[in-house]
Amino acid sequence: MGSGYSSPSILQSSSTCLPSYCSTTSPFQSQESQTNSLNFCSPTRFLETHLRKSSKILIPRSPFSAISPLKCAKVHKMETQVEDSVKPIVDPHDIDPKLVQKLAYDALVWCSLNGLLVGDRNSKRSGTVPGVDMVHAPVALLPMSFPESHWKQACEVAPIFNELVDRVSQDGEFLQQSLSRTKKVDPFTSRLLEIHSKMLEINKIEEIRLGLHRSDYMLDEQTKLLLQIELNTISSSFSGLGCLVSELHRSLLQQYREGIALDPNRIPTNNAANQFAEALAKAWNEYGDPRAVIMFVVQAEERNMYDQHWLSASLRERHQVTTIRKTLAEIDALGELQQDGTLVVDGQAVAVIYFRAGYAPSDYHSESEWGARLLMEQSRAVKCPSISYHLTGTKKIQQELAKPNVLERFLENKDDIAKLRKCFAGLWSLDESDTFKDAIEKPGLYVMKPQREGGGNNIYGEDVREALLKLQKEGTGSDAAYILMQRIFPNISNSILMREGIPHKEQTISELGVYGSYLRNKNEVLINQQAGYLMRTKVSSSNEGGVAAGFAVLDSIYLV
Ligand code: ADP
Ligand code: MG
Repeated sequence: MGSGYSSPSILQSSSTCLPSYCSTTSPFQSQESQTNSLNFCSPTRFLETHLRKSSKILIPRSPFSAISPLKCAKVHKMETQVEDSVKPIVDPHDIDPKLVQKLAYDALVWCSLNGLLVGDRNSKRSGTVPGVDMVHAPVALLPMSFPESHWKQACEVAPIFNELVDRVSQDGEFLQQSLSRTKKVDPFTSRLLEIHSKMLEINKIEEIRLGLHRSDYMLDEQTKLLLQIELNTISSSFSGLGCLVSELHRSLLQQYREGIALDPNRIPTNNAANQFAEALAKAWNEYGDPRAVIMFVVQAEERNMYDQHWLSASLRERHQVTTIRKTLAEIDALGELQQDGTLVVDGQAVAVIYFRAGYAPSDYHSESEWGARLLMEQSRAVKCPSISYHLTGTKKIQQELAKPNVLERFLENKDDIAKLRKCFAGLWSLDESDTFKDAIEKPGLYVMKPQREGGGNNIYGEDVREALLKLQKEGTGSDAAYILMQRIFPNISNSILMREGIPHKEQTISELGVYGSYLRNKNEVLINQQAGYLMRTKVSSSNEGGVAAGFAVLDSIYLV
């Protein structure tokens, strides 16, 4: 969407054409692709739900209809805005319907030719057999405008968050202590902590530590603050497909530069897939066995498999590293530990374990899967993530880190601490009685979150009040399963979302994820960098709570 956040308060209807953005001569910057994920919910859940609703469907006409170029008059003036406000450039809902059809057609061809694909939810085999029953990934037709200053801010904190995760992960007592109440009431977290305890008992040292993270943000409309939604340390998805969306949008802007006066170079380079692959390859190299493989731990059915295959392809083609894909059950059945701690699965030594499963209770169908998780943790393979990195990404730890003086335990640099703290939204434990009462009175201002990943688990609106009153009545300590978070209200923008080949005009909100890659071996930090991004855009009316609605698409950003 050429225009992004278009809150009525800041949307300028000025029809002045900004010369630089009307330029038809800006060189198209060819890019390797890469980045992002799109995930208001887990990839899987998202893919299951994203097609459910549809609103205003634009009836496809002939894709070959004549184009009526958008005049420069459609371009909103940008230079008069207050610093940091969001400046819409083109309102996608103003684009001539014939041009929309043309853009949509070309976008669909591009997705098909370039592997911006997911398994079709209407097919049984699409989650298990690659190459059959594929459909284009749900995408926004045009990029979403996003303030450059906030983009830079999100990129700047990525390495600081990486370092923070590493340091917190090394403080086993902090993790155990912070999650001790949660452990009593949340069986899933309790199982993870059990594995963590076992590793502490045997003094298991992870010398090579690999983090592939994604920190997610929403831009709060009222305060203009970029606030962190969460920090993902396990299975940060869509690095493979997200970066393709940036390329798709750049390609469309280039092709239609006379119809849509946007500069393709304002879409930042997004190299997430290759950067993730590079970090995995370097970890593999540090492990030091040229015959060993990288193992992707996957769900038995995965319609988001192409996102993962992009990483495998990059590993194979750019780094000559072999990957294998195994479910937790397969690892339990086929895996063994050799005397020196080498993990061998199906006869192959494993150097690096990359989790794209194992973050949700539903991934652990029986004791077999838990056995596999323990086996991997006991091994000397590099785990991405290790159990302690995984726990560091829990919502309870996010809330603990936001308490006064806690960041200071882990980081020395005051500037770094201030930069991270600036992104923290209000976060509370439910035993903070003032907040508990306030949330009952004003539930719309809070989100209640259990210790879960993958989308669809949060509680919003009136349900917050009900849930809190229920917990109060029970008084069993089950409040420790949740945290409370300030509800963030981002701008609402006009967008066109592509689903199942059809463009839909929608009012949307967006969430920016910035990837980070981190690798260290003992005291040496080998990689610590921002590693691409993922914009996800969803229908603003979808129950913000839960994602359950999951009406999100992959998007890119257009810097303004
Ligand atoms: P999960 O681990 O399930 O992805 P998140 O914390 O990312 O959990 O929440 C899921 C989704 O809920 C987010 O992608 C976002 O759309 C919405 N959400 C989460 N926290 C907030 C918040 N504080 N304010 C507004 N929306 C939120
Ligand atoms: Mg999330």
